Amino acid sequence: MIEFVEITKQYPGSKIPALSNVSLQIQRGEFVFLVGSSGAGKSTMLRLLFREYLPSSGSIFFLGRDSAKMKPGELLKYRRRIGMVFQDFRLLKQKTVFENVAFALEVVGRSSQEIRLAVPVALAEVGLLDRAKAFPGELSGGEQQRVGIARAIVRKPTIILADEPTGNVDPENAWQLMELFTQINRTGTTVIIATHASDVVDRLRKRVIALEKGRLVRDEKRGVYGHES
Ligand code: ADP
Repeated sequence: MIEFVEITKQYPGSKIPALSNVSLQIQRGEFVFLVGSSGAGKSTMLRLLFREYLPSSGSIFFLGRDSAKMKPGELLKYRRRIGMVFQDFRLLKQKTVFENVAFALEVVGRSSQEIRLAVPVALAEVGLLDRAKAFPGELSGGEQQRVGIARAIVRKPTIILADEPTGNVDPENAWQLMELFTQINRTGTTVIIATHASDVVDRLRKRVIALEKGRLVRDEKRGVYGHES
C-alpha cells in the first residue's frame, strides 16, 4: 500500500540528510513501530507519508500512485484517508470533547446528522462517551490523547499516523493507548507509530522499523525496541 523507493530528504540549509536512501514497503492493515533516537528521522518519515513534504530524491507510492504526481484534488482525498495523532494532542481548548471530534467531520463538510451519529461511535471506541461534554482541560493526559485518537478515527481512515502519541502520558496510560491502537488496527486500519516507548514495543512484538541518523538500520516482523542480542 505504501512504498518508499530510495528516499532521501534533505532540509534546506542542513548538511546532513534527515533521511538517506530509505526503501521499504508497508502493506494494508500492518501495525508498524518506527523507532530511533531523537533526530533519527521518524517525524520526517511521517511528514513525507502525509505529503507535508516531498522527498529530495526517490519516490513514495500510495496505493500505486506516485505522491509527487498527485494533483491537488487527489492529494486532498489522500490526506483525508489519513488520521493523525500528535504528541501534544492538539485539541481545541474552547471546544468540548464531542465538538473536538465533530470538528474533524465539519471541516470535510459532513452533515450534522452524520456528525451526530459518527461522533458517539468514535468516543465509545476510545471509552470516553461519558465525557462528551467535558472540556480538554478537565481531562487527564491519557484521556486527552484518547480524544485525539477518536478525532483521528472518526473519518474511518485507511492509515493512522501517530508521532510519539504516548510522549506526554504516564506509563500506565501509555500502555492503554497502545492497546487502543492495536484494537483499531484489528479492524483493518494500517497503524504507523513513531515512539520511544521501548517497553511497549518490546511487549507487543509488532513490526519494528529502526532509523539511525536518517538510515534504515533494522526492519523486523516481530521486533523489539533495541537490538536483540
Ligand atoms: P525524529 O522524529 O526521529 O526526532 P526528525 O525527523 O524530526 O527526527 O529529524 C531528523 C533530522 O532532520 C534532524 O537532524 C532534525 O534536526 C532535522 N530536521 C527536522 N525537521 C527539520 C526542518 N523543518 N528543517 C530543517 N531540519 C529539520
